[in-house]
Amino acid sequence: MAAQLLDGKVLSAQVEDELKVRVDALRAKGNIPGLCVILVGDDPASHLYVGNKEKACERLGIASTTVRLPADATQAQLEAEVRKANQDAAIHGVLVQLPLPKHLNGAAALSLILPQKDADGIHDVNAGKLMRGEYGAVACTPKGALYMLKSAGIQIAGKHAVVIGRSNIVGKPMAMLLLHENATVTLCHSRTQNLADFTRNADILVAAIGVPRFVTADMVKDGAVVVDVGMNRVDGKFCGDVDFNAVKDKASYITPVPGGVGKMTIAMLMSNTVEAAEKAFAAL
Ligand code: NAP
Repeated sequence: MAAQLLDGKVLSAQVEDELKVRVDALRAKGNIPGLCVILVGDDPASHLYVGNKEKACERLGIASTTVRLPADATQAQLEAEVRKANQDAAIHGVLVQLPLPKHLNGAAALSLILPQKDADGIHDVNAGKLMRGEYGAVACTPKGALYMLKSAGIQIAGKHAVVIGRSNIVGKPMAMLLLHENATVTLCHSRTQNLADFTRNADILVAAIGVPRFVTADMVKDGAVVVDVGMNRVDGKFCGDVDFNAVKDKASYITPVPGGVGKMTIAMLMSNTVEAAEKAFAAL
């Protein structure tokens, strides 16, 4: 059986179309949504991601500001930029591009972002709300992955969802979202023993590991839904955490890399920004 593709390109374009209507409605009243991305250093992947975010803002009519700091920027400089963006009424979403250079304290900088301007959905307050099932801004990548499942009409309630990876930006919020959708959730990580025993029992398997083609066909149940969050560069090409070519013949649905969850992440960043702008303008 060949899996059906959960196509992030098509779906993110649909999300953008819906967002564009909302942005146009704001702009018609003279209200322009604004996103500020703070980028530190020269990491080529981060520059690529930030470029994609700028392009998405341009397509939608969101004002985009990118603050570029040198790789040796200090914590004080980074935090000053966050504070400046917080205070700027023209900016409704603030994002600090990760990963940061090792000498910087990312958690401290992120916690300074006003929760209502947390475009990435990973501020302490928003993460805490997610835990309780009261959604503020939701982390973009898991929000996008869930959107893909729901748009395809995939049943989540009552299913066994296995998430590999427990990062604060992907694995943990993904597990929480699936739990709130009434899946039975197993969260695995590098210390999980006999990992394949868990993955082979997954109706929905989410891989957020950062190891190229880690999930092989023998780790996947026949007919499982496989969501590949991984974004790895091998020999100059992107690939996911799932061995796509082998697993696609076993899964019922699968996300490709590239063209899968990554596209949805940007769409959800735009969605969080538009939502924050709508709330800010409504409160004026
Ligand atoms: P991360 O912070 O490095 O977390 C990786 C997780 O994988 C950790 O929880 C780690 O376990 C677990 N892990 C590592 N090796 C493992 C193994 N052998 N067996 C089981 N678990 C293992 O990474 P991340 O930020 O969550 O990102 C994960 C992947 O998604 C990366 O490829 C990243 O580039 C990609 N990503 C993509 C998007 C997108 O938009 N598509 C967005 C964000 C991230 P421990 O906790 O025990 O160390």
